[in-house]
Amino acid sequence: MRVLAFLDGSLADSEAAHLRVDDLGLLRGDGVFETILVAGKKARELRPHLDRLARSAAMLELPAPDLAGFERAARAVIDAWPEGQDIALKLVYTRGVDGDPAGTPTAFALGVAVDASIRQAREDGVSVVTLERGFAPDLAERAPWLLLGSKSISYAVNMAALREAARRGAQDVIFTATDGSVLEGPTSTVVLAKDRTLYTPPSTIGILPGTTQYALFRGAEKAGWTVKVEPIAAADLAQADGLFLTSSVRLVTRVHTLDGVALPDSTAVHRELRAAYESVYSG
Ligand code: PLP
Repeated sequence: MRVLAFLDGSLADSEAAHLRVDDLGLLRGDGVFETILVAGKKARELRPHLDRLARSAAMLELPAPDLAGFERAARAVIDAWPEGQDIALKLVYTRGVDGDPAGTPTAFALGVAVDASIRQAREDGVSVVTLERGFAPDLAERAPWLLLGSKSISYAVNMAALREAARRGAQDVIFTATDGSVLEGPTSTVVLAKDRTLYTPPSTIGILPGTTQYALFRGAEKAGWTVKVEPIAAADLAQADGLFLTSSVRLVTRVHTLDGVALPDSTAVHRELRAAYESVYSG
């Protein structure tokens, strides 16, 4: 199931071709995107996602996106989607057609079903390997042209890392920096629980500020947890009471195995944090 909408709110055939072959999003990966979870017809963290789309676009020096148009397109997808099924809603914004003097960006919203493997991982947890990402935590600030921490559509490296994980018998990845600190997953934020405190690394080290991590921290604080945004050493991962990958579609997924070694059972902490996260959207 797929539903496609444009920024004027019109729906289009998602099986038909709409992009030109000379779209710079396709030719150079020159564009930005968001993936939003829609549960019970409600788009979770819509405003933070739209704000992050605008932030990523600014990092790539794209024209400011028409956020009202993206909201209209999102609404059109949600309205056309059958009841009772979650949506992974993608907002896509590219530099448009190569050589277009008007420089008109390409923009659309595409709803797809949440992948079965992701739904399974939400319940069963995942096995993760740490992989080097090859940059230092201070590089993002020194070298803004590298676009570290933007949600650019150039995810080929992230996907290659997932294939490397599969080769090593794991399902997901935690990237590490050259100083041995924790960055993020290829499509997720790293959250560690230790002694009733949740930790996540700061986005200033060149990682994406996660909307799900932020929501989880809001819910967890209400439930009595302390939350801290500070650097995490890779060596600390195995010492945690619980290690989690968070993202809009995977929610709060438990890491049960790290670099081939089973972690202590964190199912009780996971249950508690899932409830704290869901409490943000109930009532
Ligand atoms: N980091 C990266 C590189 C991502 O691609 C994602 C989401 O896909 C995240 C973190 C988590 O962000 P969010 O919780 O807003 O989905």
